Amino acid sequence: TPAPQKFEFQAEIKQLLDIVIHSLYTEKEIFVRELVSNASDALEKLRHLQLTEKDIQDGDAPLEITISTDETAKTITIQDSGLGMTRAELIENLGTIAHSGSKQFLKALGEGGAKNSSLIGQFGVGFYSAFMVAKSVKVYSRSWRTAEPGHVWTSDGSGSYEVEEAADLRRGSKIVVELKDECDEFAKDWRIKEILTRYSAFVGFPVTLNAKKFETVQALWLRSKNEIKDEEYTEFYKFQANAHDAPRYRLHFSADAPLAINALVFVPQDNTEKLGFARLEPSVALYCRKVLIDAAPKNLLPEWLRFMKGVIDSEDLPLNISRETMQDKALLDKLGKVITKKFLKLLEDEAGARADTYNEFYQEFGIFLKEGAALDFTHKDQIVKLLRFESSLTEPGKTTSLADYVSRMKDGQKEIYFLIAPNRAAIESGPYLEGFKARNLEVLFCHEPVDEYVFNNVREFDGKKFLAADHADVKLDDVPQTGEALSEADAKDLAKWLQDTLGTQVAEVKTSDRLVGSPALATNADKFMTAQMRRMMKAMKK
Ligand code: ADP
Ligand code: MG
Repeated sequence: TPAPQKFEFQAEIKQLLDIVIHSLYTEKEIFVRELVSNASDALEKLRHLQLTEKDIQDGDAPLEITISTDETAKTITIQDSGLGMTRAELIENLGTIAHSGSKQFLKALGEGGAKNSSLIGQFGVGFYSAFMVAKSVKVYSRSWRTAEPGHVWTSDGSGSYEVEEAADLRRGSKIVVELKDECDEFAKDWRIKEILTRYSAFVGFPVTLNAKKFETVQALWLRSKNEIKDEEYTEFYKFQANAHDAPRYRLHFSADAPLAINALVFVPQDNTEKLGFARLEPSVALYCRKVLIDAAPKNLLPEWLRFMKGVIDSEDLPLNISRETMQDKALLDKLGKVITKKFLKLLEDEAGARADTYNEFYQEFGIFLKEGAALDFTHKDQIVKLLRFESSLTEPGKTTSLADYVSRMKDGQKEIYFLIAPNRAAIESGPYLEGFKARNLEVLFCHEPVDEYVFNNVREFDGKKFLAADHADVKLDDVPQTGEALSEADAKDLAKWLQDTLGTQVAEVKTSDRLVGSPALATNADKFMTAQMRRMMKAMKK
């Protein structure tokens, strides 16, 4: 056999190694994720080759990933029975940056390649991340091409590597990482198990760790919808969200353009914030081709969707995405918007098709929609359509949408009226409603303190402004008065007497046609605060 041959890394690789080792990843454990994802890629490529090639090295070798650790030798070994690499491929794939193996493979696939988008690899520092923890890395590899012998590639990451022929190799690659002393935690079985559970639970091939089967879970979001049973969805939800209930809603969808996305997200049964538990943290996980990028990305979905669970997977994300760079932020933002729009559409459809179920959802999670309506400017219009309120025309406990309210508005009615009080009885027994009732004007009944804030922020719906029914700005048409009215002069005297008696407690006392049964009411003349808001402020000052 020929003697080992020494090569210099391409200048770009030297640079890259420097970046990887010193700054790119803060979490060293990520190297396991990268090597396992490479193993999985290699197996997937082999599976495709099996469809077209007859002559494959070790054709009967099962497709699997074998991981072992050795605490004494301080090594971790990750082996796959994938397509392997020839001598030339080792040099090209692991020594130069211009030739990403995935890119080349795609080219080789030719026309069919475009459809096989799951093979599109991203430029990544994947393999080189091993040098964050390694004294040295050995890659034993044997290609699927039967004429090619096996080789071993060796490097300490400092600037050069060696390639030498190696006997007795089976098809695939075996990466042996000799750990730096301070990184010997990665030679521990439990530690690797922990990392696999975190990042590689969805790998699509059997994985063993120190001869024990590592349980993987199906990446349900990549399967086609019509093959998946409800129970499978529920099981997946329970696993992913660490939950015990069944989800209320699920959204499973795929898109190729403008971004490649596979998403499977859920609405849980309970709003735990409402139950008094801590504020929810965003928990829709971000994946790139089944490999976890971030379990709880902060900039992916809008804040108000923090109750959502599930997975968003995009091939367009580089594994080494950094949440800091502007470009990546924009990408996450785009992804988030696509999902948010789809989810809002789902709710809209559900509200139309199954109003009762939707209302149950709304009881529980409506508060998040209100938050979104008030604060998420991008999706405001879509969210406002989903809001529901009781009103003077709904039966107790039943609700109306704003669209339905508007459809019932009387000719000439310009505003959407609302009253805020803790419950229906308080509104119905108060003096504010009667003038509206007498004129057949519908008033929304709002029972949550946040409603005020929502109306102030949303301002209008379908061109109609929201207006508190207890506001002094309310102008109602005359209705024929029943019973005996005071003469104009008597009414003026009474108003003056009231004004003098109440003094500075009121801004103004005037006669009005607004009331029907009650003799007097207090209205709110404040341009910025409704009565409810003032009560809240007062309570806060105490
Ligand atoms: P990427 O996976 O994004 O292409 P990596 O740095 O992780 O980048 O790997 C570089 C290349 O090395 C891969 O594209 C692939 O061609 C090759 N490679 C790495 N690991 C393996 C493996 N286990 N089996 C076969 N080829 C591999
Ligand atoms: Mg990789």
